[in-house]
Amino acid sequence: MALKISNTLTRSKEKFIPIDEKNIRMYVCGPTVYDYPHVGNARPLIVFDLLFRLLSKIYPNSKVTYVRNITDIDDKIIEASNKSKISIQDLTSKVTKDFHDDCNYLGCLNPTIEPKATEHLNEMINLIKKLIQNDFAYESNGHVYFQVTKFKKYGNLSNKKIEELISGSRVEVSDNKKEPGDFVLWKPSKENEPSWDSPFGKGRPGWHLECSAMSEKYLGNHFDIHGGGLDLIFPHHENEIAQSVCANKNEKFSNYWLHNGYVTVEKQKMSKSLGNFITINELKKNYNGQVVRLAMLSTHYTQPFDWNENILDVSQKSLDKWYEFYSDEKEEISEENLKFLLDDLNTPLMISNIHELHKKAKTGDSFSAKQLSSSCKILGLFNQSHDEWKNFKKIGKITAEEIEKLISERDKARSKKDFKTSDEIRDLLVSKGVLIKDKDGITTWEYK
Ligand code: ZN
Repeated sequence: MALKISNTLTRSKEKFIPIDEKNIRMYVCGPTVYDYPHVGNARPLIVFDLLFRLLSKIYPNSKVTYVRNITDIDDKIIEASNKSKISIQDLTSKVTKDFHDDCNYLGCLNPTIEPKATEHLNEMINLIKKLIQNDFAYESNGHVYFQVTKFKKYGNLSNKKIEELISGSRVEVSDNKKEPGDFVLWKPSKENEPSWDSPFGKGRPGWHLECSAMSEKYLGNHFDIHGGGLDLIFPHHENEIAQSVCANKNEKFSNYWLHNGYVTVEKQKMSKSLGNFITINELKKNYNGQVVRLAMLSTHYTQPFDWNENILDVSQKSLDKWYEFYSDEKEEISEENLKFLLDDLNTPLMISNIHELHKKAKTGDSFSAKQLSSSCKILGLFNQSHDEWKNFKKIGKITAEEIEKLISERDKARSKKDFKTSDEIRDLLVSKGVLIKDKDGITTWEYK
């Protein structure tokens, strides 16, 4: 079974050949933990979780090491902490917890290793030392910069020349730099900002550095797959390559670079100022995480994804139908049905195939029913039983009329001393986010 994936580095779809078939290694850039994760963040989580599942499936006798970092030191974090008056430590641990809850909700498996930037300062400092030693980086006024013109392959991933990259992006202007395109590896911290001692002065690392340091620590200096969103190609990934290749005097860093497309909301760029900023947390009120997952997978990962409510309703209906054929049994997915995913994670075709399997399953074809269930599972769907799926309540979407009806049924049960039924109704209401209070024989309720 051969897997093909779209490699940004070569701009082509290539057969995946692991460096070491016994240990397949993948690094994906994780979140900067300063705010609630949004639907744009959900996409790489789901896409690379699917790839992780697929690799584990097609290399059953290998170890698949999936590293996804947590950026817990960054300008955005310092800014958010100052604004909210919450300490950096409290802010980053709270947002990291929210992020983990969201990953769970979206049905993502835990990565093998989830390193935090603040726990890898030594590795980062050593990397800078090597870059200075190899004459790719220089110190200037408490800063250390990487000199991009010294690395001839700079721009290869973006397929652009250095001048084009610089003119097309907002590069930081500074008198400390030798050349405008140089990027920071280390910078002095301002007063009250977190800082670490280093041979270059007290300060903190640049953002790009952490991924080079942590990928090398856990995956070695040459590994299989590096992933992230399209927006990370420049400057982040281009800089990661420069740092890792030049520090280790290596030809290669990651063999395959995979990037998921942008996420828009109703054809517009998502931004707080436009008021179309959707957090994953908000979706939990109305939708099971599987609905969000299926919606995101309905578009090929390399294509732009446009978010709208309609797409969630379509996914909800599909899952409602498919769940009729949910099975607990562990049935291996056939090669015939896996071929869509092996062809560059073609989830739209995989989903149409599940619809076909559903049609056949409805006519009583038990093989198709089993294949439907196992196909959903490889997509990371069907992670709840049939009952759990049915009982997932759209909190806030239950109407006042439905609540009143349930309360009167509960009253009847209580008058008959049928406490089992009355408790069940209460639990049902609680699961729908409705709080009920009994006082002086009158029951009142409110949305939680
Ligand atoms: Zn990164």
